[in-house]
Amino acid sequence: MQSCIFCLIAEKKVDSRIIYEDDISLAFMDINPVAPFHALVIPREHIRSLDEVRDFNLVSHLLYVCKLVAQKQGLEKGYRVVTNIGDDGGQTVFHLHFHVLGGRPMNWPPG
Ligand code: AMP
Ligand code: ZN
Repeated sequence: MQSCIFCLIAEKKVDSRIIYEDDISLAFMDINPVAPFHALVIPREHIRSLDEVRDFNLVSHLLYVCKLVAQKQGLEKGYRVVTNIGDDGGQTVFHLHFHVLGGRPMNWPPG
């Protein structure tokens, strides 16, 4: 998808701070962090959101990568993994991604 910013990041046509990559996914730092550590984990394949996923092995893999990057960052006190889905979910970039947030206590419930 030419116009999708996360596809362009995956293709390295747009710069980002990539912290992990493999054949099917990558993780990079969020450009507008809302926590001391804020990374995004995405599939290379363009999938709009969790709602569009057909292969849930992919989701397992993405969650595994969330755990890897959090551990690599040393977030022993905990962290949060979030995916926003659609307008009411607060999604703004329509390429599936998991936020990995840490480095401060998280609030509950989220806004
Ligand atoms: P969401 O609102 O759940 O769709 O999250 C989209 C996230 O992508 C936001 O936290 C943005 O700050 C982040 N974002 C948007 N553009 C970029 C970019 N070029 N590089 C890194 N993060 C981005
Ligand atoms: Zn995309």
